[in-house]
Amino acid sequence: MRKRLSLQDYAAGIRSGNRVILSQAITLAESTLDSDRELASLLVQEVLPMTGNSLRIGITGVPGVGKSTFIEAFGKMLLDQGKKVAVLAVDPTSQLSKGSILGDKTRMELLATDKRAFIRPSPSGHTLGGVSARTREAMLLCEAAGFDVILVETVGVGQSETAVKNMVDFFLLLMLAGAGDELQGIKKGIMEMADALVIHKVDGDNLDPAKKAKSNYQNAFHLFPHPEKNWSPKVLLASSLTGMGLEKVWDLIVEYEQKMKDSTFWEANRAGQRINWMEDQIQDLLGQAFLRNEKVKKMLESEKAKVKSGELHPGVLAQRLVDLFLAQGEKR
Ligand code: GDP
Repeated sequence: MRKRLSLQDYAAGIRSGNRVILSQAITLAESTLDSDRELASLLVQEVLPMTGNSLRIGITGVPGVGKSTFIEAFGKMLLDQGKKVAVLAVDPTSQLSKGSILGDKTRMELLATDKRAFIRPSPSGHTLGGVSARTREAMLLCEAAGFDVILVETVGVGQSETAVKNMVDFFLLLMLAGAGDELQGIKKGIMEMADALVIHKVDGDNLDPAKKAKSNYQNAFHLFPHPEKNWSPKVLLASSLTGMGLEKVWDLIVEYEQKMKDSTFWEANRAGQRINWMEDQIQDLLGQAFLRNEKVKKMLESEKAKVKSGELHPGVLAQRLVDLFLAQGEKR
């Protein structure tokens, strides 16, 4: 059976930057046992004063664009600058495919073997809400353990981008200079979320197409201004193979951080993210309690067929179920 430390031992281990204890604490947060999760919540609360000092960077792009290679090269560059780097992932598909991103540590061999870095694959076996809540907790635990840059990787498909956008300070989109329509294959919504776009794999014969793509994307970004933070998303070129452009990406992120901290946006954004986290959690907890409720289960079981056959309006049954649940005043 897995050894469980006391709250104080976990907290002390994390405060001293003990990576083994950090890892165990994240496992606790990812557990499906209520008692583990409760302890993890108390732990996050305990170390909360030590959190919030890192730079949180989200990185997305379609599979094959080179995210893990980029994170490896970019992360290594930051380590060489004396920073401590943690890499986390949000991958809601991993529970289906079992092959979670970052799950295969050989993808980031340099970082995985470097003591100044910490890599954690996407938690599996949770809903997207559960995955993002666990990753948010892991992020705070890493911050309390002294990591000052957190890179959160996600796959460029589905809703996980929104989840990551809601937990980071800066959102980076990786793309390739493709033939034909440059905007194909990436959803408009993701362009809208990006603070910068990196055209990746700019090496070999790729420079000319990349320059052309850069001006196309820069034009496209005019469609998505960010007046609330007075920032126009930038397009940069980079290669993780040669290292070209990686420093410029970092410089841009630092420029953004400074600019947002000088305005009220930085703190307002984080404040909004905390509220968003709480609201997500409420929905998740209510949803779980609802589905676990015996009377709800029974009514659902007996009436579901009528909704399936079209005899009963789904809205009517939903309302009855919720009324039944609320009438019981259940705590959990
Ligand atoms: P991911 O699926 O987005 O994480 O992509 P990977 O990092 O696994 O990279 C996919 C492929 O692109 C691998 O074969 C990499 O070697 C290759 N690749 C990654 N970065 C670069 C780069 O900067 N230049 C070139 N030419 N190839 C790259």
